[in-house]
Amino acid sequence: MLELKNISYESRIFIITILAALLPLTLYSLISIYNSSKTVTEIIKKELQNKSTLVAYDIDKFIAGRITNTRILSQADVLEGEDINKIIQYLTEIVEADEWIEDIDIILPSGIIIASSGIQNEKGLSILESSAEIRELFLKAVDAKQGDVFVSNAHILDTGPGIQFITPITDDTNAIVTSILTIEVNLKHIAQIVSLFDKGIIGDKYVYIVDNDGKIIISDDPDTELYDVFPDLSVNPKFLNAFSNQGDIGNIIYKDIHNDEVMAGYSDMSEFGVNKGLDWSIIAIAPLEDITAPLKSLEWKLFTVALIIAFISLIVVYKFTSKATTILKDIAFNADQISQGDFSKKLSKEIHAKGEIGLLIISFDRMTLKINEVISQLKEKNLELEELYITDKLTGLFNRHKLDMAIGEEIKRAERFNYSFGVILLDIDNFKSTNDTYGHQEGDVAIKAVSDVLSHSTNRSNDYAFRIGGEEFMILCHQKDFSGLNSFTNNILEKVESLNIPHKKNKASSYLTISAGAIQLPMDNDFTTEEMYRSVDKLLYEAKSSGRNNFKSKSFT
Ligand code: GH3
Ligand code: MG
Ligand code: MG
Repeated sequence: MLELKNISYESRIFIITILAALLPLTLYSLISIYNSSKTVTEIIKKELQNKSTLVAYDIDKFIAGRITNTRILSQADVLEGEDINKIIQYLTEIVEADEWIEDIDIILPSGIIIASSGIQNEKGLSILESSAEIRELFLKAVDAKQGDVFVSNAHILDTGPGIQFITPITDDTNAIVTSILTIEVNLKHIAQIVSLFDKGIIGDKYVYIVDNDGKIIISDDPDTELYDVFPDLSVNPKFLNAFSNQGDIGNIIYKDIHNDEVMAGYSDMSEFGVNKGLDWSIIAIAPLEDITAPLKSLEWKLFTVALIIAFISLIVVYKFTSKATTILKDIAFNADQISQGDFSKKLSKEIHAKGEIGLLIISFDRMTLKINEVISQLKEKNLELEELYITDKLTGLFNRHKLDMAIGEEIKRAERFNYSFGVILLDIDNFKSTNDTYGHQEGDVAIKAVSDVLSHSTNRSNDYAFRIGGEEFMILCHQKDFSGLNSFTNNILEKVESLNIPHKKNKASSYLTISAGAIQLPMDNDFTTEEMYRSVDKLLYEAKSSGRNNFKSKSFT
């Protein structure tokens, strides 16, 4: 089984398109082949049936015409006369003029032939010596009245199959039968009708006229002769019932003597016109394969055309869908890039699409724009947070966090740029008593004032001032030499004192003062921050011990 979920959308669409195009096509072809062969078979059935009926009518008309002719001839004055030679001449002329008439005889009611058309080789013979059927019809005619015509079954004449018309000739009163007229008519005209019909029948099968016993009277089939039994009756003798049922018209499909599947249209002639006595049937056979052959080739043509159309539509649909999926792929690719952090990308610049996909692209762009905005807002907030994180709230100086971060960097920088730097730790003197005397709030004001001094003193880009505790500060600064560090520190101490912040218990001054410890470090020092703190703290302690408002310093260069 195909695992659909592992297949790309493009392939899925392709497979679905093939199914969508081919399934209905196949169904349509199967149904239409079935339907049309059914329809064609029906049409041919009807056609065979109709044609055989028409031929039956034609034959009947011919025979009816002969009956009328026989009747007219029986009333000819010359036949009532005594002059036999004249009668013979008259009959001969008629036979010569009529291609269907083979022979005409005038016979006495006793059965003796008294005159014939053409050579008188039958004269004097008795008709009662003929076949039982003719004898029977003749005897009927003897007892009949003027105008009654009796028609024999088909039998073999000198020239082929024929039938005999028998009618009485009466005297002037029309009451007494003076003689009997028999006319032998060949079936050439009927053979012509059948032959013509046969040419219109599909395939290499034939048309047959059979009598009530299924014996062939007329057919173009070269394998049969007059009075042969219709060949397919040997396959199934019951067909005879179908063919020769009184007045039946119909059709059947069966396997014939050659094992070909055939369709037979048949028509029993006994129902037609004046000739009810002539109980023949006409059977027209057509091979089923030949009936459906043109249809099958047409179906194949139709199927091929439909297949080509399906193929073309397949390509069109595939092209369209692959274009759509290409756009989707582009979107996926670009979205992936965006997911990797490139929010500056604008899909609508790179992919041009309308409709839902266009909307998708625009929405994507809006989303990235929004994300971009949020990111820059976050960045700003982060900066603010960072600022807050490293800034002392009261004084605006850097705080302890910043010192911890800056000191390592400062050491590295000093190494890289090859300079020495100073670290100064400062602490306000006797600040406890400032608070005690003026209150905590005034103490804060004093801390702020001292901070301002520190920040103004470190306005060079490479110097930093930190508030690292309550009234404790630290400065990191560039200093080329130790004396510079000392004067820088001293300068700060003087500036703080000259702020003239009142301080009652300060022994060294009546104003607020500050003490400091300072060290000068070489560029290639391997001091840890711990060691640095410890050594400046030690110096500050020394400065406090020696009376405050002063500083102690040391150079490690
Ligand atoms: P020394 O000269 O030895 O440094 O004396 P000192 O009184 O300054 O010493 P100590 O460190 O013991 O006292 C520091 C005092 O600073 C204690 C506290 O009341 C005060 N202080 C610390 N932080 C603040 C602050 O943020 N504001 C105010 N107003 N006072 C503070
Ligand atoms: Mg202190
Ligand atoms: Mg102090």
